[in-house]
Parts: sequence; structure tokens; C-alpha cells
Amino acid sequence: MKIPILHLEDGIHQYDFLVKGGSLHFYREEVYPHDLKVHVELNKFEKNIQCHVEVDTMGHYVCDRCLDEYEHAYHGTFDVLFHIGLKDLETDEEEVILLPPETVDIDLTDQLVENLILGVPMKMLCDENCKGICPGCGADLNHEACTCTEDPIDPRWLKLKELLK
Ligand SMILES: [Zn+2]
Ligand SMILES: [Zn+2]
Repeated sequence: MKIPILHLEDGIHQYDFLVKGGSLHFYREEVYPHDLKVHVELNKFEKNIQCHVEVDTMGHYVCDRCLDEYEHAYHGTFDVLFHIGLKDLETDEEEVILLPPETVDIDLTDQLVENLILGVPMKMLCDENCKGICPGCGADLNHEACTCTEDPIDPRWLKLKELLK
């Protein structure tokens, strides 16, 4: 995801990247097996390069409750501000990446990976009303009925079972 900046004119520039799913190699990448569409709107003004990035893909998740796999559209956005020159900067409000004056291109891959990692949901649910798996009989309660309470064992039989041991 390199963007050449050495001879870039001031103004707004648009870039589109298609990042192959599974090509970035980061922790939790299994959540993003599909290609990523990345759009960058770059605004260069004097020594500043402001990038607004939008990323779209299909996330691949495993439900916490029923362990079913499901997919859901992922849309992420982030902004990165670069500044060419190491000393003459007078801002402390935003996080700025300083670039040596001879910098040929910028690369937004690290920030993209960071966005994707932060985008992994803490809780994954195939559906808000997912009923999950019965801890007793293991039935997937979305598709089948629980069987573990159907035939409660007669306490007298339990006694007999114990005697037989
Ligand atoms: Zn589920
Ligand atoms: Zn059950």
C-alpha cells in the first residue's frame, strides 16, 4: 500500500488498493480471509500529508455461543497525518508521523493492520438472539431441542445403579 509522495502536488488525491486476503500476516488475520478494498483520500498541503482511509471487506467470525461460523460486512476508517521534515513541526494535538525530507513514498499497511486488529469484535454473535449450545447435552439450541432434561432418572434407579457398581 505504498503511495509515492516525492513529486506529489499539493491538493487532494484518491487511491484505491485491493489487498489480498491473508497476505498481511498478523495476529487474528483469520478473521479477514477475504480481499480488502482500501480507499485512501490523501490531502497534501505544503509539508503535511493527511490521509483518510476507508477499508471494506467481509469479516469471518465464529459465534461465541453456538460456535457456528458466520460472515459480516466490515467497514473501518482511520486517519493518519504525516509531516515532511523532522524539526519544524508545531502541532501537538494529533499524532503525527514525521518523515525525512528525502522520503520517496509512504506506506499505510501498519495502520491498516492496527485498524483490523482493533476491529475484531470482543463478542462475536451470529445473531443477537442466538440460543447457544446446551452445556448439558451439547445440542445446538438454534436448530435442535435440548434432550438432557427429557428423561430424568428415577432416584430409585440411581440407588440400584450404585449398588451394582
Ligand atoms: Zn450463534
Ligand atoms: Zn440439554
